This record gives sequence, structure tokens and C-alpha cells, in this order.
Amino acid sequence: MRNIFSIITDMILTRKCPGCGEPVDIFGESDICDVCRPGFKDISDKMFYVANIEYLKAVYSFSGPVRHGLHRFKFRGDGAAGAFFAQKIAEMVKKEKYFDGNCVFVPVPGNIEKTDREYVQAEFLAKRIAKKLRAEYIGDAMRKKKSVISQTKCRTLRERRKNVENAFILNKGAAEKLGGKTVILIDDIATTGSTLASAAGTLKKAGVGTIYAACAARTPTGRENGKKYIVRFPQNMKTVYIVPAAENRQNI
Ligand SMILES: [Zn+2]
Repeated sequence: MRNIFSIITDMILTRKCPGCGEPVDIFGESDICDVCRPGFKDISDKMFYVANIEYLKAVYSFSGPVRHGLHRFKFRGDGAAGAFFAQKIAEMVKKEKYFDGNCVFVPVPGNIEKTDREYVQAEFLAKRIAKKLRAEYIGDAMRKKKSVISQTKCRTLRERRKNVENAFILNKGAAEKLGGKTVILIDDIATTGSTLASAAGTLKKAGVGTIYAACAARTPTGRENGKKYIVRFPQNMKTVYIVPAAENRQNI
């Protein structure tokens, strides 16, 4: 059995790569190992437009080691990877023009009952981000309806959209807590943006005026379940902007 000293030394001196989970040189400059670093593609300069949301930004493209890291965080309770992504989202949000200390961080509610994790990843992220930026965190504004299945089980964009339509219910007192405030919705991964759009629509019913969204990663436009998608920037922001590429359009 390891003694307490070695456990504490490990905790202080070991840094784990958020991509592969392997130890990283603690005296090195980067938190990410040399192998994974090129795979952390920063897309935080891009704005994505989703219904009910001013714009969405994600720190990384959801691929390669970012995908591995977020999966470990999501399914295997790797809190170190989660803390890394929270830090990166906080750094991104801090640079946004809209951000000031009066913004409120709200996580997209998830399904906790189906997992053995102790946390819903969006809550984990939003709590830490709010703490880092000394902003308010409100985690109980809404909840997810039980009938909603995981978005990863939906095969087409239409299925995804239908699955999350009216997926969230406002909790009592949400309007008093949130009315008139600027909300930053937090989720781990954005794919089509349908979940964020639905959650934001629910918050609007509570009188929230302005909503932005920030995620750790976004599925790269190009491929999803082997299908190509293109991005459309509509004049009318009330439309979900991601549409399947022409060759797949008959599938939805
Ligand atoms: Zn690595």
C-alpha cells in the first residue's frame, strides 16, 4: 500500500495530459503532452450562430486528443481533464467583449440518473468557470425532461432537433433569479447546437434577455456520423444555422 506521503507528492507533482491522460513534465511550459499538443486545434476565434443565442464559441475542435480527453471526463470521471477544459473556457470567455462580472453562468442540464458519475459535466465546468471569473453560477434554473434521450443516439439532424425540442423545464423561481440578466450557457460539446438552442429558448421564457454560449469543443463542420454538413449564416438568427450539405439533404 502506498503511503500518504507518496500520494500527496503525486497530487502535487503529477500533471496529467488532458488529451491522453499520461503524466506531463511538471516543469514544462504546456499542460498538454508533446504528442497531443498538435491535435488541440483552437477554434476560439470562430463564432457560431444558433437559435436563441447571440453566438456560440468553442475552445477546441472536437477531434483527436480533445475528443479522447472529453470522453474521459464525461464517461470515466477524469476531473483533471474537466478542470483543464474549464480553465480554457474561462480564458476564452474572459476575452469576450460581452463579458463582465455581471454575467451569470448556467449549465445545460444533463441526465445524471443514467450514469455512475458524480457530476453532470456541464455543471462541473460552469461552476469552475464562474469561480475562476468571480461571476455568479446558477445551476438550478431548469431541468431536463426524463423522456429526452442522449443526443448521440439520434442519427439525423432532424432527430436531434426533435429530441431536444422543449427538452427543458424551468424550475420554480428561475424567472426571479435570471430575469433581465445576461446568461452564458455552458456545455462540454456542441454538435448541431440544437441542445443549446433549446436550453436558451427555455431561459428566454424566464425573461432572460441576452444569452451567449461557450463550450469546450465543437464537432468540426464537415463530418458527423459520416455525413457532411455545411454552415449557413441566416439573417434571421431564430433559425438553427447548421444544415446538412446538399448531398445529404434528402436524409432529413
Ligand atoms: Zn497527451
